[in-house]
Amino acid sequence: MILENIVVGSYMVNCYLTGSSDTKEVLIIDPGSSPGSIKAKIDDMKLKPIAILLTHGHGDHIGGVIELKEHYGIPVYMHELDGDMVGATRTNFTRMMFGRSIEFTPEKFVGDGDIITVGDLEYEIIHTPGHTQGGISIKCGDVVFTGDTLFHGSIGRTDLPGGSYDQLIGSIKTKLMALPDDTRVYPGHNSASSIGYERKYNPFLR
Ligand SMILES: [Zn+2]
Ligand SMILES: [Zn+2]
Repeated sequence: MILENIVVGSYMVNCYLTGSSDTKEVLIIDPGSSPGSIKAKIDDMKLKPIAILLTHGHGDHIGGVIELKEHYGIPVYMHELDGDMVGATRTNFTRMMFGRSIEFTPEKFVGDGDIITVGDLEYEIIHTPGHTQGGISIKCGDVVFTGDTLFHGSIGRTDLPGGSYDQLIGSIKTKLMALPDDTRVYPGHNSASSIGYERKYNPFLR
């Protein structure tokens, strides 16, 4: 399995390139900014991006979408409930964050239980609303990408439009904590963790 992390932009978003070591096909998860450095990594490793997959619609996670989508001619996948957010700077805050509006229409909506096949691998969508209504996590084998839902020792903020603390805690407890302890957690910001570590030490899950 290919799993590369590139930290992008002033909001320090974890962009991930992940996919099949056999075919070199990859998903670009959350290209938040710096499309040039993401492209450089893709070219260096001779990867073949097949889609951009967004954990949610916030501006810090979508800053590089348009350049990469056009450069590689690939579609954008995300959950329908954040679809309106990426379509308008008023709701994705990109003008405020970058001084320029980033607005686009995703090609395909994905929902809970959907599978994205990348070479010999299967990526399963887990709907984990609470940080935003359309927030998703993505599981492949013993790896889960958690966006701004679950962080190392913390959880996503819920004070932005569409946020709900109770819903977020519910998503984490019922969907993510159902995964085995040895599942590695790759969040949208900060360092990686594991389900076992979070189950034991995350103060929000006590
Ligand atoms: Zn966010
Ligand atoms: Zn974020």
